[in-house]
Amino acid sequence: MKNRTRFAPSPTGYMHIGNLRTALYEYLIAKADGGDFILRIEDTDQKRYVEGATDIIYKTLKRVGMNWDEGPDIGGNYGPYVQSERRSIYAEYAHKLVELGGAHYCFCKQKEENEVSEDDNPIETHSKFKDPCKFIPLEEAKQRIAAGEPFVVRQNINKKGTSVFHDVVYGDIEIDYDELDEGVLLKSDGLPTYNFANVIDDHLMQITHVVRGNEYISSTPKYNLIYEAFGWTPPVYVHVPPVMKDAQHKLSKRNGDASFQDLVAKGYLPEAILNYIALLGWNPGDEREIFSLKELEQCFSADRLNKSPAIFDITKLTWMNGCYIRNLSAEKFHEVAKPYYADMPLTLNLTALSAVLQPRIETLAQIPQEIDFLRQISEFPISLYENKKMKTTPEIAKQSMTLVIPVLENISDWTNENLFEALKECAAVHELKNGQILYPLRIALSGKETTPGGATELAVILGKEETIKRVKQALEKL
Ligand code: GLU
Repeated sequence: MKNRTRFAPSPTGYMHIGNLRTALYEYLIAKADGGDFILRIEDTDQKRYVEGATDIIYKTLKRVGMNWDEGPDIGGNYGPYVQSERRSIYAEYAHKLVELGGAHYCFCKQKEENEVSEDDNPIETHSKFKDPCKFIPLEEAKQRIAAGEPFVVRQNINKKGTSVFHDVVYGDIEIDYDELDEGVLLKSDGLPTYNFANVIDDHLMQITHVVRGNEYISSTPKYNLIYEAFGWTPPVYVHVPPVMKDAQHKLSKRNGDASFQDLVAKGYLPEAILNYIALLGWNPGDEREIFSLKELEQCFSADRLNKSPAIFDITKLTWMNGCYIRNLSAEKFHEVAKPYYADMPLTLNLTALSAVLQPRIETLAQIPQEIDFLRQISEFPISLYENKKMKTTPEIAKQSMTLVIPVLENISDWTNENLFEALKECAAVHELKNGQILYPLRIALSGKETTPGGATELAVILGKEETIKRVKQALEKL
């Protein structure tokens, strides 16, 4: 049988970096084997439900190219793929589990409420809940249910000794059954807890490999007891360490750390983010670092996943993003850069602008600060014309800008080459160094010491009329 993996996010309204990494590893395990990647929405915790959150999940996965083979929007043979639509399935299996001795009906309302607040948090207290309802004869419990009494279904942990299971990343894991509590599986509103739903869904959807955070390790023996009670085989477990902000703290959207959407808004390319997070906990076994999703599909193997937590290093991501920006075709870069030019004058040569920006930026969000002078030139001190290396002073700038105006006015084909040749010739004729013309011109056009591109490139971007206008304005102040 081919691998079948699932990404099972809760619709929280954003895509946490750690979740996207889990999705990626799930995707790669499926694709490495030509298998299927399934999208399942885990929305049983209605308190956490956020309007529009499912769309964010769809958009994010599509944006990075991780297309799913089955899911809520496209269907498949194992649907529905939204947990809240599977309510009757969970109820049916919860009752079955009671019949099989793996769970019991519980009528203690107070305790349920206390525990329900912890529903989707698998890290439960270690104190084993000694539920008196466990000893209510099944027939009596059924009568109480038939009479309309609210109930929950609670797991039975009857085994003694140690549970042993294998994990691809952490190896063999032993957990004492005494450490497991008899948590709620089906709540009184008929919805399952995560601890129940994940097992039922993973089995019914024939999932072969489950990738999830290592905080689920301690609950895994409970899931295995449910698989065992039904006579089902558990999936292959792949627990991954958390993505860290620093040595002590997990990366957490709730604490203000960046989500995938935040990073995109900060000018990171989806492909670069995906490449970077692939390496947060996995390596190819050699020095390679730049991988497209297709390349990852070819070389990924789960046994190279690392069990020590990886620290999210924004400097490294920024470097990698720069590599991705430089690797884009000129057309593609122009396309992704264009939204950042929205408030620029219509007369600008934007293709030329993209050509000078592409080699020098590492994130798209750097564009506005690089190009602000193109919209409007700000006041600048004439001391900017002073440059020892270029042998320029405000006096030389005045001389060369005066010489340059007729030269510029004479150029009909406004290209970088023509501008450069004409200005070089002007310098030669007047026994000036090229820099004594080009440097003041760049200052006159930008009002800045550093600019994307040299004087002639800026002139091409600004166009003939604006260039001449700026040189004349600069002269008036010299
Ligand atoms: N819904 C869980 C979460 O968002 C998924 C855990 C799992 O993959 O089993 O954390």
